[in-house]
Amino acid sequence: MKAAKSRLCAYCGGDAATVDHVVSRALYPPSKAASRKPRITVPACVPCNGGWTDDEPHFRNVMMVAGEPNAAVRELWEGKIRRSFRHADGHRRVRELAEKFEPVETEQGTRHMIFPARDERVKRVVRKTVRGLCHHHGLLSPVADDQVMVDIHRFAIPDEFYEQMTAAHAEADILEYRYAVIEEEDIHSGWLLTFYGRTPFLCLVFHSAAALRKVEVEALREPPNPRT
Ligand SMILES: [Zn+2]
Repeated sequence: MKAAKSRLCAYCGGDAATVDHVVSRALYPPSKAASRKPRITVPACVPCNGGWTDDEPHFRNVMMVAGEPNAAVRELWEGKIRRSFRHADGHRRVRELAEKFEPVETEQGTRHMIFPARDERVKRVVRKTVRGLCHHHGLLSPVADDQVMVDIHRFAIPDEFYEQMTAAHAEADILEYRYAVIEEEDIHSGWLLTFYGRTPFLCLVFHSAAALRKVEVEALREPPNPRT
């Protein structure tokens, strides 16, 4: 794939002096170290590569507490995450995670829940992953941050469409994803990313930031704002 030899940053198109792990190494438990499944890497410039260093551990911590844990989550939580909370900035990480819990009234009383789709840092890491995968699969490159729309997957995708999506994974229990090049009006492709066998994110890649903004503005218009 010519993309793999490119010297241009997969995220901004600048000069790529480094290689970025599309799926952050922070997301893998130690038992994956010997895995034969190659990690997905793309060329990246220094500013892009360093641009999510702080967001990726936060993303991982949110994923840890968002739903029923699988074996990879349990291993991470018992090992490197507990240790990371004892590091110099561990207290900040715990506080940042705690701040994301919101009280929700249920029949069992008040419960505290986490909403990854309301967390801008979480969404930024999801967008970055999609951008890297777009390059990795030779679909579109570079894809800017503001070309990707992300949300928690909360409505059913028609079976026929789901089955037409190309299925792939980084490691089945870390990240499974499906994608389809749509090429419909301003939309380039649709993506479904599932981290740790749960928490599915639905993403759309647009051909331009302006096209995405147009769709967002239209979505805000319904229901009509009575003040306008
Ligand atoms: Zn870059």
